[in-house]
Amino acid sequence: MHFHHHCGIINNMRCPRCGKDNDKVLESRSNREGTSIRRRRKCLECGHRFTSYERIEEKPIIVVKKDGRHQPFDISKVERGIRQCTEKLSIKQEEIDEILHNIEDNIYEMAGTSNTVTSQQVGEETLRQLYPVSRVAYVRFASVYRAFDDLDQFIEEIEKLAKS
Ligand SMILES: [Zn+2]
Repeated sequence: MHFHHHCGIINNMRCPRCGKDNDKVLESRSNREGTSIRRRRKCLECGHRFTSYERIEEKPIIVVKKDGRHQPFDISKVERGIRQCTEKLSIKQEEIDEILHNIEDNIYEMAGTSNTVTSQQVGEETLRQLYPVSRVAYVRFASVYRAFDDLDQFIEEIEKLAKS
């Protein structure tokens, strides 16, 4: 179940395109547990649309990498990876938002009380969400992800590919 709601007081965010902090919130959605809110925003200066994430969480989720290193789970990294994979495909912003929403919800569920997931779980969950939306994006993500199993390295690599 998802809640759509319009809140009274919402802080403005700095526009990633023009740097001004004068935006309008178009839509706010919370996750199942009500612990995170994703907002679609429109910059009133330049018209750019962007998304912000707010999480009400005392304990961050820890991602355990294959080599044993730990790092905090960061949905914006997943978003960067997905953006690279869906580039030039006609996938709507709303669909990407939905994918991110589902990934975030499911990762938080998988993490449970240990607050821990593996980098593999993050990658596989991303693939699971991409599959029904775009086979091309799925294959792009899978080909790079399976070779690296490390979100940082993966993003670096996929951005390199996108530039070339
Ligand atoms: Zn702007």
